Amino acid sequence: MNRKTAVLLGAAALGYSIVPTGYYKCKQHLHQPGKALYLTFDDGPDPQYTPQLLDLLEQYHIPASFFVVAQSAQSHPDLIARMKRNGHVIGLHSLSHKNGLIQPPLSACRDFSQSVAILQQLGIPPRYFRPPWGHWNMVSAAQAYRCGIRPMLWDVMAEDWRGDTTAAEIAYKLLTRTFDGAVICLHDGRGKNNAPSRTIAALRQVLPQWLEAGYCFQTVDHYDT
Ligand SMILES: [Zn+2]
Repeated sequence: MNRKTAVLLGAAALGYSIVPTGYYKCKQHLHQPGKALYLTFDDGPDPQYTPQLLDLLEQYHIPASFFVVAQSAQSHPDLIARMKRNGHVIGLHSLSHKNGLIQPPLSACRDFSQSVAILQQLGIPPRYFRPPWGHWNMVSAAQAYRCGIRPMLWDVMAEDWRGDTTAAEIAYKLLTRTFDGAVICLHDGRGKNNAPSRTIAALRQVLPQWLEAGYCFQTVDHYDT
């Protein structure tokens, strides 16, 4: 590849995906009033872990927001119905968890419209979108805008998807990184070495401590963007 081609490709990547990704990351960090936390879960629904998580949230009467992978949602409509019944918000996390940073425009376009159609068939007109890894591109940004679907990234991560972490480490990160109004991103699907089992174990420790500290929990439709 000669220098001119490399510069052109770099400029195209910058315009196509790096600029929209950076824009939405900056936009996320707005101060939210009050002592609320916004628990969000990506990459599900998972037939093994999502029911355990729903049980735990139900035990504490905590509403959350699930950013589901549309193909998994299509395979597990019972879990989507249960989320709806329990008052959780369901947002979109792509069709099959492809990385938007390197997704060609036509594929990105199909991905977005097919995933919206799947959620609509399940009785959920999606109102929020979180792309995998937070990686936007011009197509997903334009599609979301056209459909009136709002972007929702996160403020706090606990690296709970990693295969080499422990529930205690996740719990420690959650307790030390959280602040008033934080959107917390965790995972109830995918991840390495049964990662969601450690996420759920960490939440068993942390949820009572957050409640004890006076936090309340809101779904992302209460988040002021
Ligand atoms: Zn994801």
